[in-house]
Amino acid sequence: MDRVKELVILSGKGGTGKTTLTSSLSKIIKNKVIVDADVDASDMFILLKPRVLKKEIFRGKSVAFIHQEKCIHCGLCEQHCRFDAIHKNSEGQFIVNEFKCDGCDLCVYVCPVGAITMEQGIVGEWYLSETDYGPMVHARLNPGDENSGNLVTMVKHQAQIVAKEQGLSKIIIDGPPGTGCPVISALSGATATIIVTEPTLSGMHDLDRILKVANQFKVLPKIVINKYDLNNENVKKIEEFAQKNNVEIIGRIPFDHCVIDMLINEKTPIDGGEECNRVKDEIYKIANFANGIFET
Ligand code: SF4
Ligand code: SF4
Repeated sequence: MDRVKELVILSGKGGTGKTTLTSSLSKIIKNKVIVDADVDASDMFILLKPRVLKKEIFRGKSVAFIHQEKCIHCGLCEQHCRFDAIHKNSEGQFIVNEFKCDGCDLCVYVCPVGAITMEQGIVGEWYLSETDYGPMVHARLNPGDENSGNLVTMVKHQAQIVAKEQGLSKIIIDGPPGTGCPVISALSGATATIIVTEPTLSGMHDLDRILKVANQFKVLPKIVINKYDLNNENVKKIEEFAQKNNVEIIGRIPFDHCVIDMLINEKTPIDGGEECNRVKDEIYKIANFANGIFET
């Protein structure tokens, strides 16, 4: 069965309006599954208020676990671990630092009494929820864990299942910030991406980096400039960059205090009244483009 089309909203860093735009589009675009793939700092729930229907634990890589009742304190595991992951604690017990453990298995083999096994640690949770705007798949990674790319892949996979089960033809994804492993997971298999940028030097630099990743994965890129009216000169540079790279700019969202006022009240700009019209009009225009992307 074909993959349901995925639109991923990305930005080089947090705070560029990515989640606000994704949440707004999620309220406008019909017939979709919503995904919060910003698993390290998920906050779409604030704006979409999901009601959790199902919660599952997410397990990460295998790490060594020492069964203290079997250990005879010979110290061989500590001596052999090349990752410096095993140490004696103040109570004389040998314990594994799971952040340092590489999962190489060596200690399991050197332990003379079979006191060590490999265990998959719990690194987070993922949720299937309902919202007033459709089903939502989201997740939470435990702080400091490094499995965000795998968790992004997991939530996207679950969203595909939900979409097929419920006959929904679109998946809208709030992607992770940056250009690292979680972004690669978010783009993998996606149809298109909207890169949200601001007219700042760092914004332009991030845009270039994300575009390169999107091109590598053959994902159709589009650009939205947020707070475009803050720096005309940099907007011109983004326009030149877009033209040179043959990428369409599908929206220019103005800076408007209404956005901040709505976010303080845990709402999106499209929930606002006339005072938000300048922003709302642009977001509806972007939603039209997004619908067009799904229909191609
Ligand atoms: S599995 Fe490898 S890295 Fe982990 S504690 Fe054992 S020897 Fe060290
Ligand atoms: S090698 Fe086995 S018995 Fe020896 S200290 Fe490590 S866990 Fe304990």
